[in-house]
Order: sequence, then structure tokens, then C-alpha cells
Amino acid sequence: MGKKNKQFVEKVTAMEDDFAQWYTDVVKQAELVDYGQVRGTMIIKPYGYAIWENIKDELDRMFKETGHSNVAFPLFIPESLLQKEKDHVEGFAPEVAWVTHGGDDELAERIAVRPTSEVLFCDYYSKNIHSYRDLPKLYNQWGNVVRWEKTTRPFLRSSEFHWQEGHTAHATDEEASQETNQMLEVYASLVEEYLAIPVLKGRKTDKEKFAGAKYTLTIESLMHDGKALQSGTSHHFGSGFAEAFDITYLDENGESQFVHQTSWGLSTRIMGALIMVHGDNRGLVVPPRIAPTQAMIVPIAQHKEGVLDKAYALRDQLKDIVRVDIDGSDKMPGWKFNEYEMKGIPVRIEMGPKDIEKDQVVLARRDTGEKEFVPLSDLEERLPALLEEVQQNLYNKALAHRNEMTTIATDMNNFKQTLDEKGGFIKAMWCGDMKCEEKIKEDTTATSRCIPFEQEKVADTCVCCGKEAKELVIWAKAY
Ligand SMILES: [Zn+2]
Repeated sequence: MGKKNKQFVEKVTAMEDDFAQWYTDVVKQAELVDYGQVRGTMIIKPYGYAIWENIKDELDRMFKETGHSNVAFPLFIPESLLQKEKDHVEGFAPEVAWVTHGGDDELAERIAVRPTSEVLFCDYYSKNIHSYRDLPKLYNQWGNVVRWEKTTRPFLRSSEFHWQEGHTAHATDEEASQETNQMLEVYASLVEEYLAIPVLKGRKTDKEKFAGAKYTLTIESLMHDGKALQSGTSHHFGSGFAEAFDITYLDENGESQFVHQTSWGLSTRIMGALIMVHGDNRGLVVPPRIAPTQAMIVPIAQHKEGVLDKAYALRDQLKDIVRVDIDGSDKMPGWKFNEYEMKGIPVRIEMGPKDIEKDQVVLARRDTGEKEFVPLSDLEERLPALLEEVQQNLYNKALAHRNEMTTIATDMNNFKQTLDEKGGFIKAMWCGDMKCEEKIKEDTTATSRCIPFEQEKVADTCVCCGKEAKELVIWAKAY
């Protein structure tokens, strides 16, 4: 037996022992990313990028179905342009990477590497929108941005990340509100239906909203360790940016009006959510709808005559039905089992001499580990159905976990106790005063995740100050 065959996949740290280390192990061993040379940058490897591409493709399809066009704006922003909207520049200034030289020559004006592209779109819109006939503008771009983060982790917080950013301009505030809502719904359906992650939809408090926005809508999801992850945001700008950048149009009566804008983004952070919601101690678990490989064929005793031929024939038979691959290498089946479990491939198809004799295969699902024998004649029907079952089960498991990890708190003692002992989402009433929000963050490190659309009255008074409560807020420690 060759040395190669003895190399089993290294074990990952158990998530119960050290969740952060478990995450790092999975990211590395499932071959999603590697570290870049500049601190905080990442190399997204082929398998990681294939998952991101499937997410991207679904989202891009949804953007186009809702009337948006893709564009590509520059990577660079002149400093003077970035400074045009006061709140916006204050929000991003600490994280901006600056270009000061071109070759050996110092530039007359510093150039920012885009941390986000609002100002570029605003500048463009100010020059290209003249009449109500030019509206709405429904643009999206896929790209990368740079934010000089102090502490970084692959996918969750990196100095450079990939995302899409939508930027739209509308004639009325009402139209911009509809757009803001619509794009939040697009994100929610992507994350729930494709990534099998349940989300809470709501509005950010003023403290947590996007710099320069009138308001921000968000989808929040809960990770396995009880921490929250903001998974997509949609911002209504009102006419704030339009006033700063003088983006006006002549309405049907020939009167000059400011446009109303939105922006919305979803980034490679969602890969972090995918890992931390579905992963387990054997590695990654990828929901079938976005899995680059939905089923992996592992031939058993493949040195026996006919086994490999049959296995390849099976691959050919299934390849128009599901995304299927085969590992016909001379590594041991045990090694292959571990490897594809680590990569989170939803279903493994085992086929050996005995199975061939009986005209059957073994299907092993990644989410539960359950195995079933399936006659070859039923496979084309059973395999897609099984993938759907896996998809549904992942969502149901994540939802059950979130429900179990959601607790009502009516005073600061049980707020703190819940957070320390259990974590998760805390539902608590709030008076609306930013001072209470800041105090809660200071005392507990939990932040307000959102004011959920689905409001409940779990108490009459603010959890922090005891004054009359205005609304329900979801709190959590967050990534
Ligand atoms: Zn209060």
C-alpha cells in the first residue's frame, strides 16, 4: 500500500472545544481559502470560489428578473469626491486605503481604493440624469472593495472582499422605499431558499444604519455558536446623497427635483454564514442548491474488473440530472469518504462489486450520515428527491436551532445571564433612546441586530431604563 493511501484527512478541532479554531480548520481543510500576502487578504481557492459563483449566479438572475443591469465602475475614488457627503466619509474614513503615489511621483490628490462605491455612482448620476424619462436607474456591480480592518478572519472580516453593490435612483421617495424592500426580499429568498439559512428581517437602529442612509434594512442570521451575522443590507438614502451631489431631474411639469436613491449589498461574508450555520465536526455541509458537486461517486474495490467502467457510466447517466462527479483516483475509499465529507458534498454514491451484482448503489447523505440502498432503475428519481430532502432538513435544523436560541429578556439581569450562559438572539423592548442602546452594548457587548418587521410586545417597558417601550429589538453578540 502506497504512502499516499495512508494519508487520511486531518481532523478538525471540535466546535464545542474551540469554535473559532474549528472555523479556521474547516476553511482551510475544505480548501475554501488561503491567506494572502498582505494581512487580512484572502485567496479564494477553486472550491470556495465555485460555491461563491453559485450564490452569485442565483443572485444575479434575481437582479435581472427585477429589472437591474450590471455595470463596472472604477476601483479608485478621488479624495475630494469621497468627502462630499459628510456622514458617509466619517463612517468609512478609518478604514480607507489610500494611494499616494503613481510610480515614484507623489499624486496631487490622494486616491481612495473604494471601500464602497456610493460616491462614484452619485457623481455619475449627477451628470447623466436630466429628466424624469431617465429614471429609474437600476444598476448593480459585482466587484471587490477594500476596508482596512484591524482584526480579520477569512470571509467574515477581510481587508479586501468580493460582493455586489446595487445603486439605484428613483423619481420619488415611495419608489425608493419599494426598491429598498424589494431587494431585502431578494436577499431573504436567496439566503433562505438556496443557502437554507433562516433570516430575521428588520430595520437597523439609527446607530447601526449605513453611514449617510435614511434607514437600513437587514437580514440577520444566527450562527451555530449563538452569535449573529448580518447577512445582507438594503439602504434607503432618501435625497441626502442627491442633495450633496446635486442629482436633480426635471419632472413632468418642468420643475427641478432631487432623485431618491438606494443601495444594497451582499458579500462573501455569506460564505462565513454558510460554514457556521451548517458545518459540523466532520467539516463543511453545503446545501444542495448551491453545492458545486451535489453527488460524488466513490467506487468501492475499484481494482476489480468492471467497477470503474460502471462507475463512470453511472456518472454519464446522472450528469444531466444532478451536478455529479466521480473520484476514480487510487486513494482509499475511506480517505475519499473523509475528504468529501470535509468538503460538505451533500450526497455520496457508493458503488462496489456487490452493488453492481444487485443493480443498486448506496446513497449516503452528508447532513445525517444515513445510508440507503437504491436500485439503479430508481436512481434518476430518488437522487434529486434526496437532495431536496437534504436541502429542507438543513433549513429546518437551522430554524430549530435559532428558535431554541431565541430568548425573551425583560430586565438587564436576565439579559446578561442569557447572553453569558446561552447566547443567541435576545428579544427585548426598547424605549428608542440611543443612550440605552449604547449602554447595553457597553455593559454586555451585545448590539442591536434589528427592529424586526414582525413586532411583538414582550413587555411594557424598556429593558434598559424601565421607561415606556416603543418597539421590540433583537439583540445579540455579532460577527
Ligand atoms: Zn431605554
